[in-house]
Amino acid sequence: TLARRNKLVVANWKMHGSLALCRETINQLNHIVQPGADLIISPPAPYLSELGRLAQQTGIHCCGQDVAAQQNGARTGEWSATMLAELGCHHAIVGHSERRQHHREDNLLIAAKAQACIDAGITPIVCIGETLDERNAGQLEHILGQQLDALLATSGWRQAIIAYEPVWAIGTGKVATPAIAQAAHQFIREYLAKTDADAADEMMLLYGGSVKADNATALFAMPDIDGGLIGSASLEVHSLVRIYQAA
Ligand code: PGA
Repeated sequence: TLARRNKLVVANWKMHGSLALCRETINQLNHIVQPGADLIISPPAPYLSELGRLAQQTGIHCCGQDVAAQQNGARTGEWSATMLAELGCHHAIVGHSERRQHHREDNLLIAAKAQACIDAGITPIVCIGETLDERNAGQLEHILGQQLDALLATSGWRQAIIAYEPVWAIGTGKVATPAIAQAAHQFIREYLAKTDADAADEMMLLYGGSVKADNATALFAMPDIDGGLIGSASLEVHSLVRIYQAA
């Protein structure tokens, strides 16, 4: 089944970066992108247009870090999936744990954002994952199940990419071991398979949380890990290059 899924590396810059980093990243990655693995850069929204322009014809794509649940309206500070599509984005991250934490996004809103992406013809990268307290309390499968149930209630869930990002591993340097990450990915795929086995087999599941150049190879070798969502290590072009090469 592995051959059915390409590898994918998504660089999530969060609220970091600059026009200079846009230029440097495209200049360095441009030469190494290969058909077997896809590379997506997700800069802060103000850089999307310039990054998209620089990335034209390179095989590198850019994507939004968030998106509204509506396609337009009186929503100051937000942007829609339609707008991302117009810029040439094929993806948007939705439901990142930082959005859940700082903007109180819940599973229902995140599912609506995922559906808004699908309605606009772009692929949502839906982030799920448990906190350390939830894991220690034996709630891992319960929490992931709730997060997946909201997505499964949308008509477009088969078109989504899922990023498993344990909250305790994000920005902490505490990467999940390949075995722990694989176990969660396997649970996610089996959970989806209860609704549609073929779709579950084809869906891309990314791991995120303290992926670095020196741990990426072992993570990406796991059978249910189809790539990574990379935060801080994606801001250093050399480490992003090595992580991409690991895919
Ligand atoms: P990190 O972030 O790689 O810095 O842990 C990952 C993410 O939040 O997507």
